[in-house]
Amino acid sequence: MRTIRDFDLDKKRVLCRFDYNVPLDENLDIVDDRRIRASIPTISYALDHGAIIIIISHLGRPKGAVVPRLSLAPVANRLSELLGREVTMLPDCVGEDVGLFIETLKPGSVTMLENLRFHREETNNEDDFARELAGYADVYINDAFGNAHRSHASNVAILRHVKERGIGLLVEKELNYFETVLKNPARPFVAVVGGAKVSDKLGAIENLVGRVDKMIIGGGMAFTFLKAMGHEVGNSLLEEDLVELARRGIASARERGVKMYFPVDCVIAQAIDHAAVTKIVPVQEIPKGWMGLDIGPATSLLFKSALSDAKTVVWNGPMGVFEVDPFSRGTYAMVNAIADLHALTIIGGGDTDVAVHHAGKTESMTFISTGGGASLWLLEGKRLPSIVALED
Ligand code: AMP
Repeated sequence: MRTIRDFDLDKKRVLCRFDYNVPLDENLDIVDDRRIRASIPTISYALDHGAIIIIISHLGRPKGAVVPRLSLAPVANRLSELLGREVTMLPDCVGEDVGLFIETLKPGSVTMLENLRFHREETNNEDDFARELAGYADVYINDAFGNAHRSHASNVAILRHVKERGIGLLVEKELNYFETVLKNPARPFVAVVGGAKVSDKLGAIENLVGRVDKMIIGGGMAFTFLKAMGHEVGNSLLEEDLVELARRGIASARERGVKMYFPVDCVIAQAIDHAAVTKIVPVQEIPKGWMGLDIGPATSLLFKSALSDAKTVVWNGPMGVFEVDPFSRGTYAMVNAIADLHALTIIGGGDTDVAVHHAGKTESMTFISTGGGASLWLLEGKRLPSIVALED
């Protein structure tokens, strides 16, 4: 697959698809700009090689309507600060005026087109819309890892209309890290899987069981496994219909010689609330009417010790409801345990990276993915549709 390094970019219009879907607060301030920062290497590379840069991205889910609070203007401002140069924001991503403006651009300029998803054609993967976007580009670069598992006009249909196309430096890095851990991990290789539901991560768990030496399961999903092991889980998150599958999963891991680790104690409460009364109990003793909302201290120690000899770690999903203080300790203990390792540590996107960021441990991890959904696809052993299409 070609990367941005394989093209002559001098005086070329380089159309870069990034994933600038960043969280904004009610004042339209960017709460977390890591996806913008992650695009800087590709932009800097292109600028250093004489390119004219045109950026396309989506933000939020405007569902085909112009939603002013989902304008990419705050992103353009932030990008301009980070690059230390002007970023021109256009009021739309298609239309005659946009095309005419793009004709006038000079090397060294950076232009951001307005939110692609203001047009329904984007998520519908429509060809005419894609052709119009493609018309802006001498070279098309897909560097939107967070959106790479989606087949949209700006990352799939567009490929029918651009001759010169490749991936950017972020997508290259993401794919390389996941390929390394999935195909050639230094061992012991430990997967840590948490989050709300087994059903969301079933594919990843099944694929990882075939590759890892140890698997640690925490978060809400652990209760379906605990139920499969014969425990009563009170009002904890439970997917009844998956209990049998969980039981078979445990048996199949045992047959393969994969060691599985489950919570031995948990923090329980009757409500997900800052002020809720909490108790720490062994998983055998969750009373009726109470829910397990975090792993307990004994479990944190157990998981830390299971990780201690790891040479490769992949982590996706928090150990508890870490957004609510009384239920956050287990997730932060996991952040610290992984941060202290001398190992290749890969953090799946989404919630897990938020916890790492809040704990101030970003620099202690080898790599933090910028795409929750896309990284889960890779962990499931699937190939990303927009990348497959780009190779074809
Ligand atoms: P996911 O997107 O599947 O990784 O799930 C993340 C969400 O799982 C977070 O918002 C957590 O609050 C939630 N979560 C983690 N542990 C639990 C639990 N024990 N009970 C309920 N929700 C949980």
